[in-house]
Amino acid sequence: MLEGRIYNFSAGPSILPEPVLLRVQKELLNCEGSGMSVMEMSHRSKVFDKIINDCQANLRKLLGIPDNYKVLFLQGGASGIFAALPMNLAAKSKKADYLVSGNFSNQALKEAKKYLGDGAQCAGSTEDINYTRVPTQDELKLDPDAAYVHMCYNNTIFGTKWHYDPETGNVPLIADMSSCILSEPIDVSRYGAIYGGVQKNMAPAGFAFVAIREDLIGDEMDITPKIWSFEKQADKNSMINTPPCWSIYVCNCVLEYLLEIGGLEEMKKRNEKKAALLYDYLDSQDFYKPAAEKIDRSMMNVTFRTGDDELDKAFVAGSADKGFSNLKGHRLVGGMRASIYNAMPYEGVEALVDYMKEFAKAH
Ligand SMILES: *Cc1c(COP(=O)(O)O)cnc(C)c1O
Repeated sequence: MLEGRIYNFSAGPSILPEPVLLRVQKELLNCEGSGMSVMEMSHRSKVFDKIINDCQANLRKLLGIPDNYKVLFLQGGASGIFAALPMNLAAKSKKADYLVSGNFSNQALKEAKKYLGDGAQCAGSTEDINYTRVPTQDELKLDPDAAYVHMCYNNTIFGTKWHYDPETGNVPLIADMSSCILSEPIDVSRYGAIYGGVQKNMAPAGFAFVAIREDLIGDEMDITPKIWSFEKQADKNSMINTPPCWSIYVCNCVLEYLLEIGGLEEMKKRNEKKAALLYDYLDSQDFYKPAAEKIDRSMMNVTFRTGDDELDKAFVAGSADKGFSNLKGHRLVGGMRASIYNAMPYEGVEALVDYMKEFAKAH
């Protein structure tokens, strides 16, 4: 940890790798010998063209995105994609199934209803148990005529994750991976599309990435805004208009850093070790109660509480004195949430567990 920095457990925008921040600082005034920063140059320049192409190529390499998938960088964040999906993919059938495992999947469903009406269906939900786990395959009621099945792979607010890929027959599965992308290898070919806002594990806020199977593109609703047309953006390499150059540049620095340290296998090892440290401690005591059921625990967002709101408050207040930030849980869950994304070092989780032990002892 560099001097003056703290352990930042923010759920998003969130911590970035320090080697990346140092590189960005070094290149800030003069990017690639251009004599200007990336924030000041034309998005049609040679320098930026290389940056956006590298960013796409590096994302393909890290995730093993197959050649028959298009990679898009679109503004509007993951929430923009919530609207883009029904417009781009369900123009004909006007039907899509949504698996509701938390707040964001519910937001995605609500947005889809604007374009598909009752054709956008909840095909399984764990709302009745406040999303402490994701639905099981038995609990899903899937429509074989749906244009796609939408899921949110890692539930940022509730601290759960799908530990299986739902079986959807011939219907393509579309996954919001905003808060777990690049945390471990995934088999992209299992999905019709994956997407996510970049501000959790990839880059500063500014865009959402989409990796989508080519054959799903090209039959959009007439009302689809040009900038959210998967087909038109694929044709123009995501540059119909000015892209978020800064965010794409930092994203590429993050991707190059991940490739340097050994890719997603290495990242997974590190993330598993961090998550195990925290969950093993949670399981070894009874002062703190984990909020999510064991079977569906997230590797990125760890939710827990003491069971006493005043103690939770004291925990969060005391954590600031220790030099931690953003440990307060989301208002929909209460208690605490530690987001331990890729860039959080093992030492940060160790320090958190030490504080948890100390706090438990004192109370
Ligand atoms: C943060 C988050 C979103 C919302 O992302 P925006 O880019 O702010 O729209 C959506 N889905 C998941 C899983 C998230 O974690």
